[in-house]
Amino acid sequence: MAKEQYQVIVIGGGASGMAAAIAALEEGMAGKASPEVRMPKEAVSEEGVPEKAACGDGGRQKPGKKQAGVLLLESNDRVGKKILATGNGKCNFTNKNVSPAHYNTDDRAVLEAVLAGFPTEEALRFFEKLGMLSREKNGYFYPMPETASTVLDVLRLRLSELGCDILCGIYVEKIEKSKEGFQISFREQGQLHREQCGSVILSTGSKAGGFLHNKQEDPLRLAKSLGLHSTALYPALTKCICREGYYYRQLAGVRAQVKLSLYAENNSGKKTGGKIKNGWELLKRESGELQLTKEGISGIAVFQLSGMIAQKLAENRRVNVEVNFLPDFREDALEDWAEKRLSLLPGRTLEEFFLGILHKKVLGVCLQAEGFLGTMKIPAVGDNARPGRKTEDCSAERRAVMMILSVMKRAMHFTTEVTAVSDMKQAQVCRGGLSLSQFSERLECKMIPGLFACGEVLNVDGECGGYNLHFAWASGVLAGKEAMRRRNTRSQSSFWQEKGEAEI
Ligand SMILES: Cc1cc2nc3c(=O)[nH]c(=O)nc-3n(C[C@H](O)[C@H](O)[C@H](O)COP(=O)(O)OP(=O)(O)OC[C@H]3O[C@@H](n4cnc5c(N)ncnc54)[C@H](O)[C@@H]3O)c2cc1C
Repeated sequence: MAKEQYQVIVIGGGASGMAAAIAALEEGMAGKASPEVRMPKEAVSEEGVPEKAACGDGGRQKPGKKQAGVLLLESNDRVGKKILATGNGKCNFTNKNVSPAHYNTDDRAVLEAVLAGFPTEEALRFFEKLGMLSREKNGYFYPMPETASTVLDVLRLRLSELGCDILCGIYVEKIEKSKEGFQISFREQGQLHREQCGSVILSTGSKAGGFLHNKQEDPLRLAKSLGLHSTALYPALTKCICREGYYYRQLAGVRAQVKLSLYAENNSGKKTGGKIKNGWELLKRESGELQLTKEGISGIAVFQLSGMIAQKLAENRRVNVEVNFLPDFREDALEDWAEKRLSLLPGRTLEEFFLGILHKKVLGVCLQAEGFLGTMKIPAVGDNARPGRKTEDCSAERRAVMMILSVMKRAMHFTTEVTAVSDMKQAQVCRGGLSLSQFSERLECKMIPGLFACGEVLNVDGECGGYNLHFAWASGVLAGKEAMRRRNTRSQSSFWQEKGEAEI
């Protein structure tokens, strides 16, 4: 009977894959029984000729170094490339408010189980044990030195301390069921290698961010080849392109704190989200920073809506976003406010009146939309009390108030039509992936026992704010532990006998 070479093979060396490999090795050590230490089986060429078993960090481990029970396979030339780009190079690695409410998925029960086992404190503890302390800003956690490379460095250091085998620059051809568990076939510099293992963890992530070595590669390919199914994929946490291009050329560069409301056309009357008014259904509201670009809208508040926008556009529904550039104003108190301000600032032009309230570029567009010129003078409240004033002056004054109100209402209900979201390369995450319902609460595939998955390859995506990396750690640690536990508690050969081959 052939002996398995590795207890666990992890495919994909991103955030979740590295966390999984660490957890598997630590579990192996904790559960007696440090992971069985085996010498590597020699690599075989396609013709079955033994190759020199080379090792190295970032390539292969150094020759002569003992092999551990976990092999991490990564197609890029190094592990964890995406981590370096996270949080604008600072890596927002978790959030104070982690809860299922901040995620989208097809199976909330599994998601809840994963997050319940790994709350924020556990993420902080995981990194503290690796040597990294953290810093919190408004609920967002960053590594203390505020550099994403720190996160990658501590993960790599721990993998090296645990003696994890890491192979980079490889191409995994296939995963096959074997008597002992699984056989993984992969190419390294054209040479075919085959490794046996008890459990496999798929952590091949997504195309979001454009970090794949081979841009044509589908991170779901291996899972699909095993018969797993994926939901539709959409770019999420990304910017949106809007129809009113002429406005955006003027607005580019503006940043503002706003409230956003997302509407999708709904002529069917059937609710899928919220209230329907005049054929438009309110789906979601967000607050936060808006950034305006030459083509449309961006910034965290837009990112939070973008996954849903991509889905609605794919359903061929028109999508509008209403921007409130004056989130601190109450609409029912505008008139009083306008009258008071007119009396305080008499004789100003429209441009001067709004100075100190609205960004100049936003004001310019709102005035344009209302058909006003910024240089127009407005009369002040109280002018009608002056001796000799005529009735028409009063109505002129009323018109001034109405003018101000119309500009303010335009700024509070600035409606723009989103025609597209940016592509996957510019997105931070991918909405969609392997349906979570195919996995147990231990992240083991129900159809293929011994196969686990974690991270973004799964149909789980979170909001901006550290939620996606949190899920990568939470699911990676769980899958890693369970994959190793499974190997330690149950003989694979007896398992396959029990299950029978027909199940795969
Ligand atoms: C610009 C940017 C900024 C971000 N900022 C944040 C942030 O601040 N906070 C946050 O929480 N999230 C952030 N995210 C999201 C977060 O980085 C991801 O959700 C997370 O890294 C996903 O980790 P993963 O391991 O599941 O997948 P990935 O990071 O995609 O890793 C998968 C790995 O598998 C490898 N791979 C794929 N296919 C194969 C194969 N067949 N064989 C071998 N290897 C394979 C890939 O090369 C890759 O290294 C950001 C993302 C981007 C793009």
